[in-house]
Amino acid sequence: MIEIATIEALRGWRREQRRGKLRVGFVPTMGSLHEGHLRLVDRARTLSDRTVLSVFVNPTQFGPGEDLDKYPRDRVRDGELAAARDVDCLFAPHTSDVYPEKSAITVSPGPLADRLCGTNRPGHFAGVLLVVLKLLNMVEPDVAIFGRKDAQQAWLIRRMVHDLNVPVIIDVAPIVREPDGLAMSSRNAYLDRTQRCAAAALSRALEAGHRAFVGGDTEPAHIIDVTRAVLANEPAVVVEYVDVVDPTTLATPERAHDQSVLALAVQLGGTRLIDNVPLGAGLSADVFVER
Ligand code: AMP
Repeated sequence: MIEIATIEALRGWRREQRRGKLRVGFVPTMGSLHEGHLRLVDRARTLSDRTVLSVFVNPTQFGPGEDLDKYPRDRVRDGELAAARDVDCLFAPHTSDVYPEKSAITVSPGPLADRLCGTNRPGHFAGVLLVVLKLLNMVEPDVAIFGRKDAQQAWLIRRMVHDLNVPVIIDVAPIVREPDGLAMSSRNAYLDRTQRCAAAALSRALEAGHRAFVGGDTEPAHIIDVTRAVLANEPAVVVEYVDVVDPTTLATPERAHDQSVLALAVQLGGTRLIDNVPLGAGLSADVFVER
């Protein structure tokens, strides 16, 4: 594995792959790698000849008062995990290289960013799309792989690539979960033992909502109520939103259907956690790791 810190060196590496007619798969991350990220790498390897993993904690997607400064960082461990997973190129640029000055040109995510996570995180998706577009322009991958864990982010990236004619295929991978169902996340490291136990309620709640749908209840408000009822059993879990949405419009459908997604965000002792499930498939669409 080659480790690259500068955009110039990355461009040189990319030219070599092009000369060799090798397809490049790209997995952008903010580091503090876990099995969720590494499964995206595995998937990139099946879709391409060479894999680039980026580690960059993007300041423009954090709002004031969010966890930019305390976001977990461990470059040495990230390097070891990436190498062990046969990443070909680890790209870890400095903030000053990605943002030599404040970008005067920005990406406006449009109305898809106004709902769900966008309601409580103004500017978040503009920051995500800006950095993803910059990274795609640096790496010039044939395919880029994102997790359905951040479903709204993946939908917005698909839409950006479509609307702005970015020449890349976007692939969205299933959520990787702990054995008790908790979706893996770098932010899970913030949870203490009690909070970690309570966090298992998120996937239990989604499963309950899914069961209501499978049982014939297609009224979004009912599915949301069933989901909220499970979360209400954990007093430490403070719900930000629970919603049933259509993935292309992010609107709540009149009647939930197989393509609808049940999504939620909560605060748990100051840590923000998100999760979602496609109503047509339930948690069986996801990957549970063994411990
Ligand atoms: P992050 O480092 O949290 O910005 O995540 C980088 C990429 O990994 C994004 O595409 C995420 O959706 C994806 N990802 C994070 N956690 C998981 C997970 N548990 N399962 C699948 N993908 C994930």
